[in-house]
Amino acid sequence: MFHDWLQHLAAHSLLRQLRPLGSATGPAVTIGGRTVILLASNDYLGLTTHPEVVQAAIRATEEYGTGAGASRLVCGTLPPHEQLETALAAFKRTPAALAFGSGYQANLGIIPALIGKGGLILADRLSHASLIDGCRLSGADFRVYRHKDLDHLESLLKRRTANRPVVIVTDGLFSMDGDLAPLPELTALATRFGAMLYVDDAHGTGVMGASGRGTLEHFGVEHQIPFHMGTLGKALGSSGAYLAGSADLIQYLINTCKPFMFTTAPPPSAAAAATAALAVIQNDPARLARLWENRERLYTGLRRIGFRLTETVSPILPILVGQAETALTFAEHLLAQGVYAPAIRPPTVPEATSRIRVTVTSEHTAAQLDAALAAFEQAGTAAGIL
Ligand code: PMP
Repeated sequence: MFHDWLQHLAAHSLLRQLRPLGSATGPAVTIGGRTVILLASNDYLGLTTHPEVVQAAIRATEEYGTGAGASRLVCGTLPPHEQLETALAAFKRTPAALAFGSGYQANLGIIPALIGKGGLILADRLSHASLIDGCRLSGADFRVYRHKDLDHLESLLKRRTANRPVVIVTDGLFSMDGDLAPLPELTALATRFGAMLYVDDAHGTGVMGASGRGTLEHFGVEHQIPFHMGTLGKALGSSGAYLAGSADLIQYLINTCKPFMFTTAPPPSAAAAATAALAVIQNDPARLARLWENRERLYTGLRRIGFRLTETVSPILPILVGQAETALTFAEHLLAQGVYAPAIRPPTVPEATSRIRVTVTSEHTAAQLDAALAAFEQAGTAAGIL
């Protein structure tokens, strides 16, 4: 049965396979003994290999061990987790923050803690899979609105019965399209209809806003959106997630959010690495500036070559291809030309919108980006996209 299913996926160019790497996921990476340019990682600021971040993880491991031992409610809470939460709350300008083992876990837990049976969730159609699963798990009625379509959302809000609890769910920066949710307008709608707004800023954190505080900073709505979640495994170069919000909300989650209560706390090393990453982001703003310079160089180059990109405004630069098979062929040609950028296919993205998801970091050199652009042109021609 499993074999037949795998064959079916392969026949439709939808089989996913792990690609072994021989080095860290830096701007270049070793695959099968060859060094290729990596344009696939969410390590937007190159912090996974930053010496201060690495050292912080080593020191925390030496002092507190490799694992947290149990849930923090069961065996006590270690300094690295508390230090991380203090640093996150300061960075995000909220009274408090709570750390989670992963973003997937956080969304599976927080949404059902916010709303349940009898409530209504309205989510952007392109919300991350973990948000969709969190919505389903909550037991609330769950409807999607068309991507960023405020009129559609408003019409769904108008149809709700009076006094029914409503949560609006969205990514801040959409992971597969690189565009932004219209947070000011969503905030206004949420206020008007008495709904809660739940923003997942996994990709915006460390990337968007003048100081890298995220999509809320970008739009100037940090004071209007009282809480949001984000992850530590992307620009923060570590692993895990957080909810930034009020002290009461954090205490409520500590008492109700099952993926917080019943999971072993993240390893001390991951918490300490993320705390060190937050310090680097604040002390070395040149990194963020380099990220955006690199983003402009690659974006302009890809457009000049003639590729069709999504309406991206971020370092996520998806090249729209269409069919899954073409996207796979394009990715194979790219790898042959020395660039690793993945083909993203359904069900991660809607049917007929397969794409190459290109991501750039602050640590790519201009020479690497120019070489990558030459590779894109050759591979695009070979795959029949240009
Ligand atoms: N939310 C979004 C928008 C994401 O892109 C991701 C990961 N790709 C997650 C949540 C899940 O985060 P994690 O990888 O920490 O589980």
